[in-house]
Amino acid sequence: MEQTFVILKPSTISRSLVGDIIERYQRKGLLIAGIKMMRLDEEILRVHYAHLVDRPFFPLILDSMMATPVIVMVLEGNDAVEVVRTMTGATNGRKAAPGTIRGDFSMSGQENIVHASDSVGNARIEIERFFRPEEIFSYSLVTQSALYAPDELCPPPRGFARTHRSNQQENLHSPTLHSRP
Ligand code: ADP
Repeated sequence: MEQTFVILKPSTISRSLVGDIIERYQRKGLLIAGIKMMRLDEEILRVHYAHLVDRPFFPLILDSMMATPVIVMVLEGNDAVEVVRTMTGATNGRKAAPGTIRGDFSMSGQENIVHASDSVGNARIEIERFFRPEEIFSYSLVTQSALYAPDELCPPPRGFARTHRSNQQENLHSPTLHSRP
């Protein structure tokens, strides 16, 4: 399954919104594969926000991101990068759509609650930047079979391919689709 990288920014920590934000990801069905608290320094922020270092507001970003420790997370699920970006909303909290995290919790272009990777490639790079391999855990949610259809699970449940094929041949949608051989 796909993994993405999230930072709960100092605006989340200092406003005591950690539980509210994590609850949203969990309610959506994303699995927390990694989570830890850390302080960011200028060195890592210059790399992480390399596309913004020349902007006049970059010193404000540095101050903002170093104001408190942050919580970094690896979230996992099908299409996790796109799902989490959609949940995040537009950069400016005042313009972010209601229902998104920024739309519901932020009034600012800078203090916008979370960072979320914007592509699968960047997610991979950002996860490696912030996590050691042993800090990322592989496990399944017991709710997985209710979160996804069998053909969305990877690998599909044992016996799924065989029963699915035979059901297709018979043009049936039988409950045996889910049963083990
Ligand atoms: P996003 O976080 O939505 O991917 P960017 O990568 O463009 O957006 O910006 C990174 C972060 O820099 C933003 O989340 C925000 O905290 C800050 N930022 C971006 N643009 C501005 C701005 N014009 N003024 C102040 N802070 C900004």
